Amino acid sequence: MDIGILGGTFDPVHVGHLRIAEEARVRLELSRVLFVPAGQPWLKADEAVASPIHRVEMVRWAIAGSPYFELSTVEVDRPGPSYAVDTVAILQQQLGAEASFFFLLGWDSLAELPRWKEPDKLVQMCRLVAVPRPDFSPPNLEALESSIPGVTQSVVLLDMPLVDVSSSDIRKRVAKGLSIQGLVPDDVEEYIKEQQLYRQGE
Ligand code: ATP
Repeated sequence: MDIGILGGTFDPVHVGHLRIAEEARVRLELSRVLFVPAGQPWLKADEAVASPIHRVEMVRWAIAGSPYFELSTVEVDRPGPSYAVDTVAILQQQLGAEASFFFLLGWDSLAELPRWKEPDKLVQMCRLVAVPRPDFSPPNLEALESSIPGVTQSVVLLDMPLVDVSSSDIRKRVAKGLSIQGLVPDDVEEYIKEQQLYRQGE
């Protein structure tokens, strides 16, 4: 059973996340994709992040229409920083040995991998599926391999059309009173309005 994992801050979840999940699901024949909102995103420790309650709720709305997408609250349910290596270990325990994991991430995140907790262990536990992201260069696997032995065997480079959307841009647009229609699912747009999120800028 091949399962995708899309970890993120999802502040807010947007159509880029949904495209990555769908493209990986179909191309890699994944049985489902788990959306895993970070409890305490340690890479964004000095930034204000919306409460996990809102971020989880937005993911819930965003994936409600897809039978292949699931929410996992494994990271928000745990106190302290959310590290991918711990998350994959817990999901492996929860789903058993027959589950194989494909951790989806953008080129921007793959470049950060050497800063993650125990990346050498992570690459042994799952395949990393790297997807292109506008304004970022393709991964330099040779350089990554020198700091994380084994990463090259783990990485799957998934070529797909670029989706020029980011959560930070969406937050800025809301703060400026600009439209975000089409950048997030309609129900997420509605939720952001109702809850008056992101009005105060970043
Ligand atoms: P922010 O703009 O606040 O940094 P983000 O848009 O990168 O947020 P995250 O929730 O941090 O959203 O992203 C989760 C994962 O999805 C990361 O691995 C990121 O690289 C990837 N990702 C997000 N948006 C895109 C996109 N448009 N194209 C490719 N990958 C993306």
